[in-house]
Amino acid sequence: GKMIPAEFEKQVQRAKDEGALPFMVNATAGTTVLGAFDPLEEIADICERHNLWMHVDACWGGGALMSKKHRYLLQGIHRANSVAWNPHKMLMAGLQCCAFMVRDKTNLLQRCHSAQASYLFQQDKFYDVSYDTGDKSIQCSRKPDAFKFWLMWKAIGTKGLEERVDRALAMARYLAEEIKKRDGFRLVMEPEYTNVCFWYIPPSLRDMTDGPEFWKKVHAVAPVVKERMMKKGSMMVGYQPHGDKANFFRQIIISPQVSRQDMDFLLDQIHSLGMDL
Ligand SMILES: *Cc1c(COP(=O)(O)O)cnc(C)c1O
Repeated sequence: GKMIPAEFEKQVQRAKDEGALPFMVNATAGTTVLGAFDPLEEIADICERHNLWMHVDACWGGGALMSKKHRYLLQGIHRANSVAWNPHKMLMAGLQCCAFMVRDKTNLLQRCHSAQASYLFQQDKFYDVSYDTGDKSIQCSRKPDAFKFWLMWKAIGTKGLEERVDRALAMARYLAEEIKKRDGFRLVMEPEYTNVCFWYIPPSLRDMTDGPEFWKKVHAVAPVVKERMMKKGSMMVGYQPHGDKANFFRQIIISPQVSRQDMDFLLDQIHSLGMDL
């Protein structure tokens, strides 16, 4: 689920050979479905060789930076030209709170977004007008979302945020280990982050040989289990196909309030809702 640096460089070279001029790469730190982290250090080396703008979409995975234990996942992010990060995801800031950071110090945002509306952002004021952020933003009349992050950080501290991340990752690890122990549950891959992706195989399919027919049947399981959990009102767990993979459940862990019992409940529920399929 992640970028292969050598393949990436081949694609850059191919585009150049075709006369195109590649100018940026969008690497992902924490993909939405699998929670995979692109190898940023190696991508940064390639970007330097080919003079590419390196953007890192750390919307989902950026939260790991708060954890001394897990921030190695984003090793190399300091070399990015720009980074997007959503504190409203892993860190649980109130929706919405998205940060976009650029290394550039030449007033790039102003140069890109400014409409120089003379009726709004006067330049002849009595103070340093570089503090006026309105003319730099893509949006105009919006809430100062950064304030939520600042307030939350003040309230629970760096340590509190770190504990939140560490706890979520520990809980995801517990869930993954439970999945490995139980009959009929199968991990799509070892989770790198808190995306725990897995199939539920009902007893009627457990003796089938692995093949297209088997996966066609497995594909139909998650939508039915999801419908049943919603109608029962017990859970809301997402599922989706991915590439050539049949529908699988994706349990993401964020909340510091969830416990091991909740993880057990989740697996028990899926089994009891799907065992007759
Ligand atoms: C959620 C997400 C986004 C989009 O963020 P929004 O705040 O919902 O617009 C972008 N990239 C990744 C990897 C995400 O998980």
